[in-house]
Amino acid sequence: MELVEYVKRQAQGYCDLCEQPAPFANKDQQPYLECHHVIWLSQNGADSLDNIVALCPNCHRKMHIVQDENDIKKLTAIARNRQHLLNTNF
Ligand SMILES: [Zn+2]
Ligand SMILES: [Zn+2]
Repeated sequence: MELVEYVKRQAQGYCDLCEQPAPFANKDQQPYLECHHVIWLSQNGADSLDNIVALCPNCHRKMHIVQDENDIKKLTAIARNRQHLLNTNF
């Protein structure tokens, strides 16, 4: 499974930042969330589980415009926690 799909599945239809349900479902009736790299790939962020979160379109846009330090801290913690869970489960 691709990392982005894994992250979205783990998010269970909820945005990692605002914790609200995805605003709509896609054609496959899956909650629509977007994957975001907490540290952008263009800033040498890693394309790995501990750097990817699932966001609603609003929060995704916000992360790219505002880059609020507290948001980044929160998302980093969530991503690292998922990485940790994956390591413990396998
Ligand atoms: Zn959100
Ligand atoms: Zn993004």
